[in-house]
Amino acid sequence: MDYRVLLYYKYVPIEDPETFTQEHLKFCKELGLKGRIHIAHEGINGTVSGTVEQTNLYMDTLRKDPRFSDMVFKVDEAEGHAFKKMHVRHRKEIVSLRLDEDIDPTELTGNYLKPKEFYQMLQDHDTIVIDARNDYEYDLGHFRGAVRPDIKAFRELPDWIRKNKEKFQGKKILTYCTGGIRCEKFSGWLKKEGFEEVYQLHGGIVTYGKDPEVKGKLWDGKCYVFDERISVPINQVEHVVVGRDYFDGKPCERYVNCANPDCNKQILCSEENEHKYLRGCSHECRVHPRNLYVKEHGLTEEQIRERLAAIGEEYDRKKEATV
Ligand SMILES: [Zn+2]
Repeated sequence: MDYRVLLYYKYVPIEDPETFTQEHLKFCKELGLKGRIHIAHEGINGTVSGTVEQTNLYMDTLRKDPRFSDMVFKVDEAEGHAFKKMHVRHRKEIVSLRLDEDIDPTELTGNYLKPKEFYQMLQDHDTIVIDARNDYEYDLGHFRGAVRPDIKAFRELPDWIRKNKEKFQGKKILTYCTGGIRCEKFSGWLKKEGFEEVYQLHGGIVTYGKDPEVKGKLWDGKCYVFDERISVPINQVEHVVVGRDYFDGKPCERYVNCANPDCNKQILCSEENEHKYLRGCSHECRVHPRNLYVKEHGLTEEQIRERLAAIGEEYDRKKEATV
C-alpha cells in the first residue's frame, strides 16, 4: 500500500493554458506519475496515481503555485498505479456541460454543504436530490432516494431538467457528483435557470465517504471512478448492493465493456454471464466479427455456435451479413 491516487480540481483562471499543459505534462512525467489531467482557461481537473513520495512532491509543488495554494486533494491509498499512462490535455472546459452560455462557478454556484449538512438535508421531506452523473455511474451506486436523470451523458442534463421542471418547483435541490467538479457548474446553471434553493455536496461523494462522522451513510452501492479501479467503497457502515446484472438482474457490481469494439458499452455482468454471453450486450455484439471475447479466448466457430445455442441464439454469419 505505498501508492496513492489523487483526485482534485480547481476553477481558477489559467493564462496560456496550452503552454501550461505542455509544462505540466513534462513535470508529471519527470515525477513518474500516471493519470489524466485536463487543463483549460477556467482551471485544472485531474486524477493521478504514484508512490507516496511522488504524490507528496506533486502536491507540494502544485501548492507553491499561488493559483493552486489552496487546492484540495482527495487522497486514496492504492496497491499500485491506477492508470497505464500519463496524459495532460488542453481542453475548452475542464468539465463539459455544453451550455449555450458557460457558467463560471467562481461567480455563480449552488450553496456548499459539508458532508454532515448534506446527510441531514438528505432526510428532509422538502428536498429533492439529483445525481449529476451519467447513468452507468448511478447504476453502480447512488444516494438513497436520489433522482436518476434519464440521460446518457452529463451534457444532456440541462435539457432533461427543463423537460422535468415541475418535479423540482418549490423544493430545495441537492446535487452531488464524484468529486464535486460537475456540481460546481451544474448547481450554478440551476440557479441561473431560476431555481432558488440549490445546494451541492462540497468535495463530492468521495469526501462524503471519508468523513469521520457521517461515514458515507445513506450511500448505496459503490462509487464509479474514472481509472483502473473502476469503483471505490463509500458507505463504511453498511453495504447495500444496488447494481444489477445486465443479463439476469441479479445483484452485481462488476463492470465490463461490451466485447464488440464498435459498441464498447459498459455493462454490469457476472463472470459466469460474461462467458455465457460472450461479453456481448446484444446478439449483434456477440456475433460481431471483431468480438474481443472470442479473440481473447481463441474460440472456434463451433464453440461460438455452442455458446449461442445454449442461450437460444443461432450463429449464422451469412444471414447476419445479408439482413
Ligand atoms: Zn454491445
